[in-house]
Amino acid sequence: MKGEFILDRNHLSYWLRQMRKSRELIGPLMDGGKDIVFKSVDKIHELVLDCPASLPSPKEFLFPQYESMLRFTPLHLPLTKGGQGGVSLSEKAIEDLSDKTKRVIFGVRSCDISALSLMDKFYIEGHKDPYYARRRENTLFISIVCNNPDPTCFCIGLGTGPYLEKGFDIQMTDLGDRYFVQIGSHEGAKTVKAMSFLFRRPQKTDYEDQYEVFLSSKARFHKRINLEGIRQMILEEKVKDDFWQWVAGRCFECGGCVYDCPLCTCFTVTDRTYSEGIERVRLWDTCMFKGFTRMAGGVLPNEKMVKRTKRWYYHKLIYYPESLGGFGCVGCGRCTITCPGKIDMASIAARLKGLVLNEEEE
Ligand code: SF4
Ligand code: SF4
Repeated sequence: MKGEFILDRNHLSYWLRQMRKSRELIGPLMDGGKDIVFKSVDKIHELVLDCPASLPSPKEFLFPQYESMLRFTPLHLPLTKGGQGGVSLSEKAIEDLSDKTKRVIFGVRSCDISALSLMDKFYIEGHKDPYYARRRENTLFISIVCNNPDPTCFCIGLGTGPYLEKGFDIQMTDLGDRYFVQIGSHEGAKTVKAMSFLFRRPQKTDYEDQYEVFLSSKARFHKRINLEGIRQMILEEKVKDDFWQWVAGRCFECGGCVYDCPLCTCFTVTDRTYSEGIERVRLWDTCMFKGFTRMAGGVLPNEKMVKRTKRWYYHKLIYYPESLGGFGCVGCGRCTITCPGKIDMASIAARLKGLVLNEEEE
């Protein structure tokens, strides 16, 4: 079963309820009366279907901010006559804590689905990260076409939204009284097939209405940013070091841009000691912090802020395309909302373009 279907709006909650029998359901919910975040859904009627596009990305369900990887109990060996002894580990003493929960994440934005395909390349292709890979295997993504992008969104210039041709398990377009449902993966097809009596084939008017939503969504974007143009400027060495000095001077080293970005992957691993053993945890980290690349002996190769801000932009605009085949930015606009120094991706792109154009005119 592949292709396109129509789901009546009043069947949505029944469908989600049925899915929840075999998977944890995650969706956009009001958190503490102020923010909307992706959370485990207890009451389906509380899902916020018309939430802003810039709600936090669901990346933490694949790459959590704090992740217990394993726990182990060191075995204390008795002292021998010669005074030798110590600590060893047996395989049995190691407890694997990797998350095996099956989930469906509903209401994801197209930009975040686009980010997933690069996250997959980073974490699965080449050196496979078993923690990410297991979560990814067990997670089904249902995305919603953005029909009301935020003023900070610029996915439209990058081909990463507001709707997609591929990359999703299931993509839904809100047509008012019904949803236009597109299947994009085998898992997505299985999920729809399991409840096939809820779905019907689209008619000509459904296709026309879907096309209208696409057109009106595209017309609502405020920003169109050409990152390829910026990349070329950097490669042609049109961006001088004093520009990166200016950027560094405005950075507060808060890490907000990194933590909010659906494509930032920095982490650190540390062991924590408890009375009953040791737990190995993985935590989000950021290349914006000077201790991120600390070396033995305490050497800090990136102590100067300018090196770190420049690296963040080079990573997203130069190294990601070279190694993973796409920008390390999907135009979600979250760093624009977060950055107190106004040196987010969109502002930097606009400023660079202006600077270089002015120089060329001189
Ligand atoms: S760099 Fe900024 S706009 Fe681009 S994906 Fe990351 S948070 Fe979103
Ligand atoms: S959000 Fe802005 S101020 Fe904070 S680390 Fe990122 S670039 Fe620096």
